[in-house]
Amino acid sequence: MSETIFSKIIRREIPAEIVYEDDDILAFRDINGQAPTHVLFIPKRPIATLNDLGEDDANLVGRLVLAATRYAKAQGFAEDGYRCVINCNRDGGQSVYHIHLHVLAGRQLSWPPG
Ligand code: 5GP
Repeated sequence: MSETIFSKIIRREIPAEIVYEDDDILAFRDINGQAPTHVLFIPKRPIATLNDLGEDDANLVGRLVLAATRYAKAQGFAEDGYRCVINCNRDGGQSVYHIHLHVLAGRQLSWPPG
C-alpha cells in the first residue's frame, strides 16, 4: 500500500490534534470537521480499505469501535448520540486510503446521507 498522510500523523511528521492513543490505535480531530466533534480513529497499522480486512483483524476493528465509544462516553455526548462511519472506496466517499472510523457528534445529523 502506498503511504498516506495518516502515516505521517502517526509518526508525528505532520501535526494533528491527537485525542487518544494506545499501542495500536490513534485518534485525532479531522482537519475539516463536519460537526462540532469530528474525530478519526485509525489503526496504526496501515490498512487501505474495509475490503483489505482479514479474519485476523477482527479484534483490531472491535477495539477501534470500543475506543470510539469510550471517547463518546468520556466526552459526554454518548447519550445525546453520535455517528460512526467508515467510508470505503470511490462510491463510499473514501479519500484517504488508510482505514479510519469517523466519529461525528454535537449536532443533529441528517439521514440518509447525500
Ligand atoms: P474519507 O473521505 O477518506 O472518509 O475521510 C478522510 C478524512 O480525513 C476527511 O474527513 C479529511 O478532512 C481528513 N483529513 C485529510 N487530510 C487530513 C490531515 O492532514 N489531517 C487531519 N487531521 N485530517 C485530514
